Amino acid sequence: MTSQNLIFPAQAQVVLPVQGSDQSFPVGRVFCIGRNYPWSPDDRNSSSEFPSWFMKPNSAVFLAEGVLPFPPSTDDFCHEVELVVGIGKGGFNIRREQAESQHIWGYTVGLDLTRRDLQKLAKAHGGPWEPSKAFDASAPCSPMVPVKVCDHPRHNAIWLNVNQEERQRAVIADLLFDVPDLIATLSRSVTLLPGDLIFTGTPVGVGALQANDHIQAGISGLGEISIRVGPRPTPSSI
Ligand code: MN
Repeated sequence: MTSQNLIFPAQAQVVLPVQGSDQSFPVGRVFCIGRNYPWSPDDRNSSSEFPSWFMKPNSAVFLAEGVLPFPPSTDDFCHEVELVVGIGKGGFNIRREQAESQHIWGYTVGLDLTRRDLQKLAKAHGGPWEPSKAFDASAPCSPMVPVKVCDHPRHNAIWLNVNQEERQRAVIADLLFDVPDLIATLSRSVTLLPGDLIFTGTPVGVGALQANDHIQAGISGLGEISIRVGPRPTPSSI
């Protein structure tokens, strides 16, 4: 491949460590599903329409530990805890019945961090969501857990605390569209590839984060995140 003659080194492959192993999961694209838990009693009745989806760059993914950088350009930096699917075998038009048995390599716990003020602006003006969703360090994840270790999460609890206070709690079975539905539907729109991640949506209870907040989040039987929000960037650094 030396004939490629790159003018500078290609960006490093983004990876997540595989739990209990010295191997790594190479992260491809990052798909994120919009509203996919009932946030109000009406949501379960009106759930026939597939949720919106959007993407983050894989450069937003990092192992959730230590300090979470507070992003610039927001006064409403919000948490969303989500079950994240790691695709092991790609495909187009994947059958729902084969999604779990053939296409999922593993799962991780992720935060779909959001600059909510910029998302509200985008919704009001019909603009793209990238400024609100696709910023640096916007997708921290726990280590990837192979399906053969954790099995497919179904009745597992998903939760998020800020400074020991519970903000979000649900069970995976509350998903309006379950993981096989998401894979089947997404794969009719784009060809899924090995390494792709799918953030499956967040339960009710999203809220704002402040500098120095301690976030603890997890999915029972799968993993936990413990991370502290860093200081707000000073105006001169924006
Ligand atoms: Mn989300």
